[in-house]
Amino acid sequence: MSKNPYNFKNKIVLITGASRGIGNNISKKFTKYGAKTINLSTSDFDFKHSSEINNCLKFIKDQKKIDILINNAAINYSEKNINFNEKKFDELINVNLKAPFMITSEVTKLMKKNRYGRIINISSIASIRVKKEKTVYSSSKFAIEGFTKTLANELSKYNILVNSIAPGFIDTDMTRSMLSKSEIKKLSNQVPLKRLGSTDDIANAAIFLSSELNNFINGHSLVVDGGFVSAITT
Ligand code: NAP
Repeated sequence: MSKNPYNFKNKIVLITGASRGIGNNISKKFTKYGAKTINLSTSDFDFKHSSEINNCLKFIKDQKKIDILINNAAINYSEKNINFNEKKFDELINVNLKAPFMITSEVTKLMKKNRYGRIINISSIASIRVKKEKTVYSSSKFAIEGFTKTLANELSKYNILVNSIAPGFIDTDMTRSMLSKSEIKKLSNQVPLKRLGSTDDIANAAIFLSSELNNFINGHSLVVDGGFVSAITT
């Protein structure tokens, strides 16, 4: 092991949803620790559209090497199941499931050649505890967990480790657009640590799982939620 286990100097990291929120912090942290990052957002490819996912695959094909993949981009719609129309369903599933699925397939071709890879899928505690009006979002995140575990099993022989991070309530645009200030306050009080998570909290977990310190955590879902899902608050 090198002196600094958080040295990513020769590593190339592809991050989706890197323009804001959690993905942006993950990207900045990898840069801080010496990695070269490839940062994607809607201004590059809008994953709502299959044609743009395919354009993204062409872009990945042109890369020489990708060591670490962070599947982070996602959207979150709230709607009663009965009102959830097909267009919205397709958009959400394209961004949250089809894009990570297809991007991972293309990236792992490069990783297999190098016999090295670390893949982290950003899931959610919505894959553990559910809220009404989130049928499609939760379904996408449950699927990401199944995808992570199956892929870990499939790719371990190439020295590619696959894990997910399941954030709790994190202070980002997504949370602020879904919840009112009073809902945020109420939820924060239900977190044993009495606060929303920060993007740092998630980025630190991503750095650890991708670092030299992790050689045996594989197919795992790391819940980073301040203790929320496991707590009964009194
Ligand atoms: P965010 O602040 O809304 O940022 C979303 C990122 O994804 C942006 O970079 C955005 O790019 C990109 N993106 C959105 N729609 C896209 C599309 N159609 N095609 C390509 N890229 C798209 O989200 P966040 O809160 O950081 O969430 C990041 C991840 O954490 C997601 O997987 C989310 O499900 C998960 N998560 C978040 C929370 C939370 O409390 N925030 C909790 C659990 C899980 P643009 O800037 O171009 O729009």
